[in-house]
Amino acid sequence: MHIDILTCFPDFFQPFLSYSIIKCAQNRGAVNISIHNIRDYSLNKHRKVDDYPYGGGSGLVMTVQPIYSCITALEKDRTYDEIIYMSPDGDLLNQHVVNELVLKDNIMVLCGHYKGIDERVREHLITREVSIGQYVLSGGEIPACVLIDSIVRLIPGALHDSSSALNDSFQDDIIAPPVYSHPASFNGWEVPAVLISGNKAKIEEWERNQSEIRTQKYNEKMKKASKDII
Ligand code: SAH
Repeated sequence: MHIDILTCFPDFFQPFLSYSIIKCAQNRGAVNISIHNIRDYSLNKHRKVDDYPYGGGSGLVMTVQPIYSCITALEKDRTYDEIIYMSPDGDLLNQHVVNELVLKDNIMVLCGHYKGIDERVREHLITREVSIGQYVLSGGEIPACVLIDSIVRLIPGALHDSSSALNDSFQDDIIAPPVYSHPASFNGWEVPAVLISGNKAKIEEWERNQSEIRTQKYNEKMKKASKDII
C-alpha cells in the first residue's frame, strides 16, 4: 500500500514514522508512506497556505490553490483509490471503515489546520472524509496518524504475527478478552487460574465468555453515550 500525507507541518510525522509498527511495516515493505509539505506547492511569494475567510469571522482558512496543486501533482504519478480529508464531521472512524481502507492500494490523506480548508477542496477534490471522534482538534495531523496506524497494523506483513490483529477488539464485532502476563501472582493479585491450567479448551471457553461479557457491557455504555451526544 502507498500512503501520501499532505500537511503544512511535515516534521510532525517524523517520530510517528520512526517507531514501532509503522516503522517495521515500512522496513518490511508492507507500506510506503510519503509526506508532502503543502507549502511547497504555494504559488504565493511568501509560500502562504492560509488566508482570511470570506464573510469575515475569526481564524484563517487553508486556501484552495496549494492543496489543488499538491493533489494534482501527486495524481500525475498514481491513481488514488481514496483522497481522504480528516474532518470532525466526516465518517466516524471505526473498525469497519479501517477494514475497508486496508484493501486499497493508494490513498492520500489531507490534514487541515486553522479553521479548516476552503470548501471547494471538499467539493471537488476529496473522495472521503474521516473523523476520529466528535470533538475538534487543532489540526488533522493527529487524526491522520490515528487513521494510518489503524490501517497499517492490518496490512499483511506489517505485524510480526499478523494473526494478532485479527483477534483484537472490534474485529468480528466483539471486544477482546482480558490479557495477563508474568508473574502469576503480584501484590496478592492473581491471574485467573484457568489461564495457567494448560487446558486449551477451557481457556478458549473462558476467553469467549469474557469477550461476551465485555461486549455486552460495551454495548450498554455505547447506547447510553449515544443518547447524550448532540
Ligand atoms: N472549523 C472546523 C474545525 C477545524 S479544526 C469545524 O468547526 O468543523 C482544524 C483541522 O483539524 C480540520 O481541518 C481537520 O483536518 C482537523 N480535525 C480536527 N478535529 C478533527 C477530528 N475530530 N477528526 C478528524 N480531523 C479533525
